[in-house]
Amino acid sequence: MGSKFGAPEKLIVNGKRLDGRKFDELRPIAIKAGVVPNADGSASIEQGQTKITVAVYGPREVFPRHLSDPNKAYLECKYDMAAFSTPERSRPGASRRSTEISKIMRDALTPAIFLEKYPKTKIDVYAEVTNANAGTRCAAITAAAVALADAGIEMRDIVSSVASGKADGKLVLDMFELEDNYGEADVPMAMMPRTGEITLLQMDGELTKDEVVEMVRMNIEACKNIYELQKKALHEKYLIEKKGAEEGEENGG
Ligand code: ADP
Repeated sequence: MGSKFGAPEKLIVNGKRLDGRKFDELRPIAIKAGVVPNADGSASIEQGQTKITVAVYGPREVFPRHLSDPNKAYLECKYDMAAFSTPERSRPGASRRSTEISKIMRDALTPAIFLEKYPKTKIDVYAEVTNANAGTRCAAITAAAVALADAGIEMRDIVSSVASGKADGKLVLDMFELEDNYGEADVPMAMMPRTGEITLLQMDGELTKDEVVEMVRMNIEACKNIYELQKKALHEKYLIEKKGAEEGEENGG
């Protein structure tokens, strides 16, 4: 679907993936917190050529009011692909796929948030894919968790997310687009690395039980690494803010 290249003859050549990565190697990941000044919290993620910005608004007044819950906040997630995010123009607006991904984002994030601390409010999470190159649902969840923390929303833990798949019979971590489009299977997952709780597990394609176990193991290891990058992004934002405040004080502000 939508690849710039035709179908490759093979996805694994001389024991290596087409982008040179090892089977259990993540794409390069860059996460930044606080990238949308108008939002209450935000984050961006670049994972290989997948690029996503997430903005969080809230906790704020619920509209329409009948969605207001006296016991907890109402969490809404919206996943969207920009028209320019795929090689062929992607049709703007909701699709079956974007509706599904919005729902699984909500399911993956909900267990981490102390929603009961914010009764009668709404928390909106908007994920905008600006460049799609596989793994967008997982990257959106990873960035959303950072954006929620950046918004100061209390959480049990950060949620980290990654997918692994099967390409040319080999189990591979964090597929890029060619592997995703022409590979045999896909297992996206999200978890809270501190508690080990898995908050999302999907499977597309045919896999044996042993393969699923191995992919989950690979995903857990990768989530631990992603978790460190998420914490680093939040720490860096905090350091920048602290430095700014100190400079302001020095200047008599
Ligand atoms: P994910 O992005 O979570 O892997 P999918 O497996 O549904 O979700 O999609 C895999 C990849 O296929 C996307 O990341 C994107 O690169 C590509 N893709 C998805 N939808 C479209 C589309 N409408 N047009 C072009 N490419 C698409």
